[in-house]
Amino acid sequence: MARVVMKFGGTSVADLDRIRGVARRVQRAVAAGDEVAVVVSAMAGVTNQLVAWCQALSPLHDAREYDAVVATGEQVTAGLLAIALQEMGVEARSWLGWQIPLVSDDAHGKARIERIEGTELVARMRRGQVPVVAGFQGVGPDGRVTTLGRGGSDTSAVALAAAIRADRCDIYTDVDGVYTTDPRIVAKARKLDRIAYEEMLELASVGAKVLQTRSVELAMKERVRVQVLSSFEEAPGTLLVDEDEIVEKEVVTGIAYSRDEAKITVRRVPDRPGIAAAIFGALAAQGVNVDMIVQNVSAEGTTDMTFTVGKADLPRARAALGSAREAVGFADILADPDVAKISVVGVGMRSHPGVANTMFRTLADKSINIQVISTSEIKVSVLIAAEYTELAVRALHTAYGLDAA
Ligand code: ASP
Ligand code: MG
Repeated sequence: MARVVMKFGGTSVADLDRIRGVARRVQRAVAAGDEVAVVVSAMAGVTNQLVAWCQALSPLHDAREYDAVVATGEQVTAGLLAIALQEMGVEARSWLGWQIPLVSDDAHGKARIERIEGTELVARMRRGQVPVVAGFQGVGPDGRVTTLGRGGSDTSAVALAAAIRADRCDIYTDVDGVYTTDPRIVAKARKLDRIAYEEMLELASVGAKVLQTRSVELAMKERVRVQVLSSFEEAPGTLLVDEDEIVEKEVVTGIAYSRDEAKITVRRVPDRPGIAAAIFGALAAQGVNVDMIVQNVSAEGTTDMTFTVGKADLPRARAALGSAREAVGFADILADPDVAKISVVGVGMRSHPGVANTMFRTLADKSINIQVISTSEIKVSVLIAAEYTELAVRALHTAYGLDAA
């Protein structure tokens, strides 16, 4: 007997038939003797629709009302799944964030979970009742509904698993696990049986969209055993584990890409102390996150500063830089949204030199120009022209020996 959290994403609950399918899967787990808590997302497409409605009424809408609107998607699926379970003779009830309560901070639209009261849920699970928890939502310090950022029901599930000390957190989705790269781009991508938390964290943060980054952070911190698996098949998925549970470490485990960033070059900035602080301070003040950064030293006392920001932040970044122009004293700004960030990730990099060089060599052989480079202990990322994304990912997948036989 195990205590498990089963989380189902939007495609897994996209219509009533699928909700019945999910209910049958839960029923089987309960029949096998497991104590089960379920976390659900909104039906596929619903959250996008709700977000669009808020934006249509007001682009700068009140974030508290946005949360009141977008949190409803999960309320619907939690209730429907509870009904489907009851219909099959499984005792179940729905739980909204405020009812548990799942308490978050007040950062509406991207709130962080602070505490989950799990005692009542556990007591009911022991008696055989299945709590069906609405993912993605919580309650803020002032009693208002909050949401945890897009993809946030993964984080709900992992946080719940930690709070009720579950043996496992199974995340059911529309792919059957985590792959060496996006199988839609590389037909020879392979499913990984295991991946280290840190690798998954890097992959999630550089564009692999399987899990919300925060959920991986939390799983790593709380040592939650997360499994990613398909809700449409019976096969085992990919298990997130500690680094030392992976015996055969590949040098590179996965390759991710992201087209969500834009490149900004601030031209001819004075080369003196305090300039970087002035530029990035102005961006931070506008809430703009900066990712990759390069700066050149030049002989004439000025330099170019190039960095990337989220594409959605480009207008705000331009505005922030515009107002800092006088203080900083740069010549002009160039913005290029047609870029892609390609990242290779693997814990094996810690002990194997030459990983970056293989990447540069491979891209050079395809005549792909590298615009910006950034590295961490287990990751190398490069920025290239967006049109070469597929070519680069395929070539690198082969170069690091990741292609399926
Ligand atoms: N329904 C929310 C979204 O689409 C949360 C989730 O699915 O994880 O972002
Ligand atoms: Mg998701």
